[in-house]
Amino acid sequence: SVPLGFFGGIGAASKQGVLVKGSNYLEALSEMKTIVFDKTGTLTKGEFVVSEVIPNGWEKEGLLEVAALAEGYSDHPISAALKKAYEEAELGELSMDRVEQAEEIAGHGIKAKIDGRVVYAGNAKLMEEKGVEYEPCTVPGTVVYLAAEKEFLGTIVISDTVKPEAKRAIAQLKQSGVKKTVMLTGDRKDVGEAVAESLGIDEVYTDLLPGDKVDKVEALLGELSEKEKLGFVGDGINDAPVLSRADIGIAMGSMGSDAAIEAADVVLMDDNILKISSIMRIAGKTLQIVH
Ligand code: ADP
Ligand code: MG
Repeated sequence: SVPLGFFGGIGAASKQGVLVKGSNYLEALSEMKTIVFDKTGTLTKGEFVVSEVIPNGWEKEGLLEVAALAEGYSDHPISAALKKAYEEAELGELSMDRVEQAEEIAGHGIKAKIDGRVVYAGNAKLMEEKGVEYEPCTVPGTVVYLAAEKEFLGTIVISDTVKPEAKRAIAQLKQSGVKKTVMLTGDRKDVGEAVAESLGIDEVYTDLLPGDKVDKVEALLGELSEKEKLGFVGDGINDAPVLSRADIGIAMGSMGSDAAIEAADVVLMDDNILKISSIMRIAGKTLQIVH
């Protein structure tokens, strides 16, 4: 049977706005030595803002319109930024009936059929896979390249900001006994490394596809002894497999996708990553009472 002290710990966590789905996760939290974070929406706000629109030989308005159409059905944080930029440019109502079809290509971007033409909106990997001769963009930020079939239409640069509490959250985790902090992202190297460095994160892996994130977590699990545990913190639909694979999957409750919340063992109801070290402390105390 489960010792009573564990329920006290789960209750104390819930008073802090943290849902812990079982007493075994409290025990694991007290032994968490490696913590792995997804970048977008977890360490950063996930509120992208368009900073540059660079059309390839035509108008900015046209490029922005194609981007907004292609991303019209997506709920990725990137698509919200592109739709907002289109609205703010006051170019008129977007006619979504021009979009016959749209699909998300995980870790790459979007493929959509607009006015009968196949349009791609996404990163360098997507352009390379589709054989588009694009002009690599060196402006700092997350870059969305656009192409209609193999014709390169231009580039839109967007940027996100780190959560104000992220740096303190990382420092407190280290004080709570975490030995290694890691960031995984599908974003490009310069963006990922800049975020990791500003937050004091030990290791960063960029340009990852959702499947690569599972592989990385497995490799990091392999570095730990049996008693040592690994936590993964994420928010997206694509994070569900990694959340399941980690010893402790931690999801964002308000910004997180349903799939992430369901796959997680621990849910931060208010998305505040400072709460992770708080519940590690609660977990430690609970175990002292129980044992
Ligand atoms: P993260 O790992 O930071 O959470 P994702 O896995 O969601 O990021 O996306 C990885 C990369 O794939 C993004 O940085 C972007 O380059 C590209 N991408 C994903 N979704 C979209 C989209 N809807 N539009 C454009 N690009 C996208
Ligand atoms: Mg994500």
